[in-house]
Amino acid sequence: MFQVLILITVILLIYVITKMSRNSAGVISSNQPEMVKCSACGLNFPDNESVKNGESLFCSSECSSKNGI
Ligand SMILES: [Zn+2]
Repeated sequence: MFQVLILITVILLIYVITKMSRNSAGVISSNQPEMVKCSACGLNFPDNESVKNGESLFCSSECSSKNGI
């Protein structure tokens, strides 16, 4: 009877660990924005923070105005 309890505990532990690792992997992939390069200074930054000027991407409005002239 004691062996059955150990077996159930081990199965539960494996289930919890796989569920936790799946959840953390999902969070990492969904929170990781695509990295893009600034056309003016060459800095790598997340796509969601980019400043678009025509077809070019910039890290800030400052770089955008520098390259726009
Ligand atoms: Zn820049």
